Amino acid sequence: MCCPPAIGHPVRVLPRVLWIVSLAACGLQAHTGGMVECVCPLDGTKFEAWQDFSDTAFGTRLDLKRLGPIAQPWALAQCPKCRLPLFQREVEFSEQEKSKLRAIVGGKRFTEESKGVSAYFAYAVLREELKEDPFAIASTYLQASWEAEETGEPAYRKAVERAIRWFDLAADQLRVSAEKQNERQLAIYLPIELSRRIGEFGAARERLNASASLRESGIGWMNGALDLERQLINAGDQSCHDIGEVASRERSVAAPGLKTAVGTDQADTKPAPNSSTTALNSVEATLQNDGRQLASACAQYLLENGAKEVEFSVDPESGTVSGPIAEFVKSIAAGTKVIDGSYEPGGTFSLQNPGAFAGRAVVFDDSGRIIR
Ligand SMILES: [Zn+2]
Repeated sequence: MCCPPAIGHPVRVLPRVLWIVSLAACGLQAHTGGMVECVCPLDGTKFEAWQDFSDTAFGTRLDLKRLGPIAQPWALAQCPKCRLPLFQREVEFSEQEKSKLRAIVGGKRFTEESKGVSAYFAYAVLREELKEDPFAIASTYLQASWEAEETGEPAYRKAVERAIRWFDLAADQLRVSAEKQNERQLAIYLPIELSRRIGEFGAARERLNASASLRESGIGWMNGALDLERQLINAGDQSCHDIGEVASRERSVAAPGLKTAVGTDQADTKPAPNSSTTALNSVEATLQNDGRQLASACAQYLLENGAKEVEFSVDPESGTVSGPIAEFVKSIAAGTKVIDGSYEPGGTFSLQNPGAFAGRAVVFDDSGRIIR
């Protein structure tokens, strides 16, 4: 299936590591980061900054922020002198690029807009000035909104409003692009969620009502997310919600008496099975966990390499993982066969184990949740 580009971390500068810390550990999953020594490529300023190195996500929010022992977005170092966000990893800027960046960071707009804002907000402004793709600019403002959750209003609202404006531009610009329809669908969907999160329920409802085409998007979680959006908008709920709630809510809205409390477009909703609420045997539980680990490794690989898809395979005899993601997950339980080992954000992959789910091929979404 197809796919939105991952909204994750930008490429990062990873200079000399001073120390590494595992922030949280839960079985094999962990989030590690450390202080690194950075040097600004424009003015040579040396400084220390926190950088994240690896983590594992367990779920995804409606605004596509990943959940779990994970930093989202990954820390972005920023020069304390010129405020350049160090967004480029292990790649030297050419003299031409440096002079372009110097002109931007020294210019009126960046100087004013980068004052007192988060690193991602400054990076988004920089991307605007670099005249980058609207979807990329919007995604960076979205990341700035995650960063601003700590600081709260008005920084959060400001980042969200910018993200909405750029997603709108992206949706409009991508109207004619046949190969980027997934980006366009996300650019239409995300402003619904973001309008809701800042309490603009009228705008959120209007956008939701105008988004019927998204139901044909082919993005696995989209229809459930749209249904959940309608319920939350109707309830005046602006808090964070997990895409994983979709399946359980669908079951609850199907219960008599609750149906009228939700939107009118529930009738065509097919409840999705949610394996986490069913008792699993140990092979099934292991398969479920392996799916999560593989998804997380794939997502990590894409983010670190700026790739759009990745293939993996597993030797069923030994459980050894091969392909570029082997760097992140070396092995899974023996006996599991890969049916579809092609991973793309928004897409699916499938595994099969004779001891799990009656031996049928199990389909996982891009977060490693079993969807069928
Ligand atoms: Zn600098």
